Amino acid sequence: MHDDSRLVQQRIARFVRERLAPATYRERVPLQVTAWTAPGEPVPFADAVRQEFTPFAVGSPWGRPWGTVWFRVTGTVPAGWTGPGTRPELALDLGFAGVQPGFQSEGLAYTPDGVVVAAVEPRNAHVPLPGGPGSAVDLYVEAASNPGVASDWAYAPTGMGDPATAGDDPLYRLVAADIALLDVPVWELTQDFWTLSGLVDELPADLPRRADVLRALERAVDAVDPHDVSGTAELGRAELAGVLASPAWPSAHRVHAVGHAHIDSAWLWPVRETVRKVARTFANVLDLMDTDDEFVFAASSAQQYAWLQEHQPDLFERLKQRVSEGRFVPVGGMWVESDTNMPGSEALARQFVAGKRFFIEQLGVEPPEVWLPDSFGYSAALPQLIKAAGSRWFLTQKISWNETNVMPHHTFRWEGIDGTQVFTHFPPVDTYTRSSRRPSCTARNASTPRRGAPTPRSCRSAGATAAAGPPGRCWPPRRGRSHSRARPRCG
Ligand SMILES: [Zn+2]
Repeated sequence: MHDDSRLVQQRIARFVRERLAPATYRERVPLQVTAWTAPGEPVPFADAVRQEFTPFAVGSPWGRPWGTVWFRVTGTVPAGWTGPGTRPELALDLGFAGVQPGFQSEGLAYTPDGVVVAAVEPRNAHVPLPGGPGSAVDLYVEAASNPGVASDWAYAPTGMGDPATAGDDPLYRLVAADIALLDVPVWELTQDFWTLSGLVDELPADLPRRADVLRALERAVDAVDPHDVSGTAELGRAELAGVLASPAWPSAHRVHAVGHAHIDSAWLWPVRETVRKVARTFANVLDLMDTDDEFVFAASSAQQYAWLQEHQPDLFERLKQRVSEGRFVPVGGMWVESDTNMPGSEALARQFVAGKRFFIEQLGVEPPEVWLPDSFGYSAALPQLIKAAGSRWFLTQKISWNETNVMPHHTFRWEGIDGTQVFTHFPPVDTYTRSSRRPSCTARNASTPRRGAPTPRSCRSAGATAAAGPPGRCWPPRRGRSHSRARPRCG
């Protein structure tokens, strides 16, 4: 039988990047921008707002390595932005380079009275605006100009690792600071395409369900008028509703999706940046929980919660509420995701004593598991320590990266040197950061062009990957059992 699935997938990828992505925002108006550059290390919000902010032109460079620039953006949501299915938001592009978050600029937005709103990073470059049409916009953004020091995972020598050798040349250029009118149905349709295209990528080629999903995607492309995406997005969604609602066969696994952010407490950035990264990450998680009742998120390391409590007490109080609801789930029970090769038994025991005490006293929960997905090597004394600490399960995956002794199981009882056994599980995907693999043209990027504007580079390169693999996906997928931290390259 003639198999045209690759052709169809290429057509779908082109439709998403050339039609849907440019229609994400119906309109944009620029905000007024002023800025103040912190002279040294980061300062609290209360200190920053007392400084003198001077006009800053969009397009200008900003941010020496490891520096901080506070931007203030002001304006008014146009009174005429009243169309149904739309929502105004701040669209901010700090000069994102398209690589993964954590190794470039990021920012945290505050109201003028110091309330954290949300964070911006390369894959999430928008901030909700509470006011409707005609309302004033006034936000401060603490922008961190962090350099990437991993040299695209080649780990080449670089002076960027230390402010003393990194120089003062700005790393970024402010690309956009707009109020943008989100077209919600277009955005939702983009997510439908992304979800179902991912399913097509994963299902076996000979499975009828794969063909059903692919044909539904093709019908959705047909249903949307390329010259009136906004007016016909719902027709596309209607074509996809059936396959989105239909489950796999009755005996298939039931999958529970829980959000997670793997934040190294110290890796390739100063610890003070981890403090800010935790605030940015958790701020966005809490914002998502406000808008999605089903969203559940898990995070480890009592130390990271303690940082939030110290530096962002308002966010911590919001987090506590979500913990009590069972939606923000502390995991691991240790103070940090510890190494277990170098510490002695007393130090490891204190990881549990300090970690569990914090979780119990501050958040009212005792995580039942041990969570070490990214520690290199595990002491054979751990089962005994885990059980002595009152923990019941152990989660990792790192052993699956062993390039010499391939671990044949991912769910087993691990017996330690004293005979203690602990139930152990490796998530079977061979990594702890199997992230969305989202091509940037399906993300709501602040610099998504207006309709009719040239396709951004990131979307063009996503299309280019179609020649080598599934359209708009990372290709090839990471399969190797390597101890290196090689990442899949995304389009
Ligand atoms: Zn890690």
